[in-house]
Amino acid sequence: MASATERREALKELLMEARACTRCAELASTRTSVVFGAGNADADLMFVGEAPGANEDLQGLPFVGAAGKLLETLLGEIGLSRAEVFIANVLKCRPPGNRDPRPGEIENCTPYLIRQIELVQPRVICTLGNFATKLLRDDPAGITRVHGRPEVRTIGSHTTRLFPIYHPAAALYTPRTMETLREDFLSLPGLLGLPPAPLPRPDGVEALAAEAVAAEAVAPQPIAAPDEPAPEQLGLF
Ligand code: URA
Repeated sequence: MASATERREALKELLMEARACTRCAELASTRTSVVFGAGNADADLMFVGEAPGANEDLQGLPFVGAAGKLLETLLGEIGLSRAEVFIANVLKCRPPGNRDPRPGEIENCTPYLIRQIELVQPRVICTLGNFATKLLRDDPAGITRVHGRPEVRTIGSHTTRLFPIYHPAAALYTPRTMETLREDFLSLPGLLGLPPAPLPRPDGVEALAAEAVAAEAVAPQPIAAPDEPAPEQLGLF
């Protein structure tokens, strides 16, 4: 298996490739920057949002607006910082006027996301909202139905625990959604404390056993702020 340093170097190469991407003609001609993703390239926890907005497009970084502030606050409440996690999006370029990502754009951009997941190798991936959840679960079930339920999934070559939650932007103006998002966040320390997701077996026996353990272990439990210093950050990651 590649070392963390090798995977980080490969992530940098992928970043250079994405920066030159013109697969979506409209997005490539309207973007200010490609918002590849940022954070700890060896993170245990990865977040996948929808697409960059205006602030992200200007700064070249994901979740730097109001939704990003909320994400940071919720992370702080479970003793984590932004620098410890990796944050990416389904689309790396801003859809003009913040319209929804189109199916062809998602299809063009998905190989970058899958490669990012294979390189970061997170133990837990939190999908934020409908677009990321439907894409990575490969299922049309909406976030209202599936939020807060962890499941073991294999994405590309990486088997991980997928944990769908509401998008922070949806929680900003709806107190009930905020409450649910906060409750779901409190399950994250328990999920991160589980052993790595078991590799899939054709008979599914291990996966079922692991899910039973997961269901017990994810009861909400806030954790204290870690004593360790935040991982080194060079540029984006
Ligand atoms: N919303 C997203 O889904 N992604 C961002 O990067 C910012 C806002």
